[in-house]
Amino acid sequence: MKRVYTADNRALAWHIKNILESNTVAAEIRNDTLHSAQGGVPVNECYPEVWVVNDSDEETARRLIEEQVESVVAEEAQWLCENCGETNYGQFELCWNCQAERSSQS
Ligand SMILES: [Zn+2]
Repeated sequence: MKRVYTADNRALAWHIKNILESNTVAAEIRNDTLHSAQGGVPVNECYPEVWVVNDSDEETARRLIEEQVESVVAEEAQWLCENCGETNYGQFELCWNCQAERSSQS
């Protein structure tokens, strides 16, 4: 297991996981549910982290993140999923949470 990214929100972490897995890189999210527990621990330890299951995938994962994620972070347009209400980044056409398609109206 290798950590390849620390996201500042869950939507981004899950998008990264989806990108990696669509490129045959097995990935896991850590710290996904700790938002309410930030009190006594350093903030960095509560941000959702993306880990690759196989250490040999680390290079590939970092390249994918560089190519596909950094442009997403810069992209300000976001949309709300009509199915589950989660926030999604503009360039993704499927909801990270429930895989619903983006509404053409948003
Ligand atoms: Zn959704």
